[in-house]
Amino acid sequence: MPEVHEGGCVCGAVRYRAMRAPVRTTVCHCTFCQRRTGSAFGFIAYFKQEDIEITSGDLKSYEHRSDESNRLLRIEFCPNCGTTITLTVELLPGARGIAGGTFDDPSWLKIERHTWIRSAHPWLIVPPDVEQFPKSSLQQPLQIK
Ligand SMILES: [Zn+2]
Ligand SMILES: [Zn+2]
Repeated sequence: MPEVHEGGCVCGAVRYRAMRAPVRTTVCHCTFCQRRTGSAFGFIAYFKQEDIEITSGDLKSYEHRSDESNRLLRIEFCPNCGTTITLTVELLPGARGIAGGTFDDPSWLKIERHTWIRSAHPWLIVPPDVEQFPKSSLQQPLQIK
């Protein structure tokens, strides 16, 4: 039986299942993530696209171009309660990110890196055992197979 992690939005309309381990886990301090979450940072577990299954509800999507890199970012959210469930980024083709706070139990998630430290809130302290990047951790797209 492979690893399975389930979660959903705050109203319960959208539910998903993520199979196997994430391919990449990131805390992102970019201003897009701060704004889209209305919080201090984005907290994302990327899985292979085919390992994510939306098991109930419908997602609405919004596409945004980075004002710095001009790369495409897509968020998908519950149209009823507005919870962002997924994040897809041009730099990770083949991957679909899940907003970390939406897992029923997010305690298993280990964060590998903090990105866009440049715009991190000044009161925030990054743990010393994770990689840190002033901007994105990727210069070129990384194909997730
Ligand atoms: Zn909802
Ligand atoms: Zn971000």
